[in-house]
Amino acid sequence: MPQHTLTVEPIPILKDNYVWMFKTGDHSWAAVDPGEAGPVMHHLESLGEGLSHILLTHHHHDHIGGVDALRKQFDTIVVGAERDKHRLPALDVAVADHQRLPLGTEEAVVMEVAGHTLGHVAYLVKDTLFAGDALFRFGCGRVFEGTPEQMWESLLKIRALPDTTQLCAAHEYTLTNLQFSCSLEPGNMGLQVILKEIFRQTDMEQPTMPSPLGFEKQHNPFFRADDPHFARNIGLSGQTAEQVFASIRKKRNSF
Ligand SMILES: [Zn+2]
Repeated sequence: MPQHTLTVEPIPILKDNYVWMFKTGDHSWAAVDPGEAGPVMHHLESLGEGLSHILLTHHHHDHIGGVDALRKQFDTIVVGAERDKHRLPALDVAVADHQRLPLGTEEAVVMEVAGHTLGHVAYLVKDTLFAGDALFRFGCGRVFEGTPEQMWESLLKIRALPDTTQLCAAHEYTLTNLQFSCSLEPGNMGLQVILKEIFRQTDMEQPTMPSPLGFEKQHNPFFRADDPHFARNIGLSGQTAEQVFASIRKKRNSF
């Protein structure tokens, strides 16, 4: 396996969340957003390995619910955003934008990506992006605390990463997001082809991620808000990227 790739494992929890786990050493793992402890413990027990780090992207309960139980079980370091530490579980390491964080044999780079919440961060480890609820396949997080402008800025930061970056998002929303994308652009035959493949994967209960960011740059409607052809296709010719973004985000909320 090439050096730049990371060993990752999605652990499905709750209704449609993933806890993304990756190796931080020969016998240790990190868990991103453990909203539940049981499935993470089960994964580690089946391997006889430990939990070196917990990385939190934001404070919503489905991302932090398992932290306390995991902390009791493992000698683990809990990492989260400095600006949200008042509403995250107690942090061992509080991080900010661009910070480099050693994680055993790996290193994470922190990206502040506000919009879904004000303190939302993503973690880039080698070529893998743990995006939490900032970016999904064919979608992005609902703008709860920030403004659409802020969320768009955050998406631009993510879009600047290389095409080969592997996206690991915290929810399996791919099918619904893609159906929404198809509803925006019914004439986009490329999306119809992808839809068939996603139906096949979800029928077999296969996770649709990790998935390359280059694919999202081409097809994710929220990444395409500054593409004039896309704006024309969806009847928003002449609007700014922020306006197009805000308009499709609003439509997605009621889809
Ligand atoms: Zn959330």
